[in-house]
Amino acid sequence: SKITIAIDGFSSTGKSTVAKQLAKELGYIYVDTGAMYRTVALYALQNGFAKDGEVEEEKLIQDLSKIQIDFKYNNQLGFSEVYLNGVNVETKIREMEVSSYVSKVASISAVRQKLVALQQEMGKSKGIVMDGRDIGTVVFPNAELKLFMNASAKTRAQRRFDELQAKGNTEVSYDEVYENVVERDTLDTTRADSPLEMAKDAIEIDNSNLSREEQFDKILSLVKA
Ligand code: C5P
Repeated sequence: SKITIAIDGFSSTGKSTVAKQLAKELGYIYVDTGAMYRTVALYALQNGFAKDGEVEEEKLIQDLSKIQIDFKYNNQLGFSEVYLNGVNVETKIREMEVSSYVSKVASISAVRQKLVALQQEMGKSKGIVMDGRDIGTVVFPNAELKLFMNASAKTRAQRRFDELQAKGNTEVSYDEVYENVVERDTLDTTRADSPLEMAKDAIEIDNSNLSREEQFDKILSLVKA
């Protein structure tokens, strides 16, 4: 029977790649919760609530009810894309500007409450793979399978840098990406509300030295176990 799979871990550990692959293999729904926090950060940027490295929390909180987040499945891509108030923002939310504010936005309790409620609603139908930072700890503490992905900061920064380059985002340097990865790790693990931590019953997967295939085989065997 279908289960709930929670995948957590630091940024750029390949969570979404694995989660998408897993959802495809099992015929499950994939939900990228990072995309949801990124969408709120994009809204803050578009409305002038995020500038000069600061987020105007009160203004953003006041506007939370105006932020509609939806996922729509894209047949050609084979996964769902995220929409902000009806506009496809899947590409925009991956830009460095959003990355530089997202962890500040994600540290706001009212933002987390709104998004966690939405995620729990989506999880009512079984057969779901959800990735993020607090899925196994907060969103679905009863998930049947919890994975915690890890890799060295250098490996992760290199992956994100390669990804940005491949998308034609060539004005960002490796050093900037590395700094952003380390900064988000710090913010994510030290925030007051649901800091990033491994659930007690999660299985840790360090993929610094695993190929994508090796990793996938390992995870698939855990699902089937
Ligand atoms: O997964 P991704 O790197 O796209 O997530 C972007 C940011 O959103 C993270 O660095 C983290 O600050 C925040 N996030 C979170 N809780 C989640 C998913 C993402 O706080 N469940």
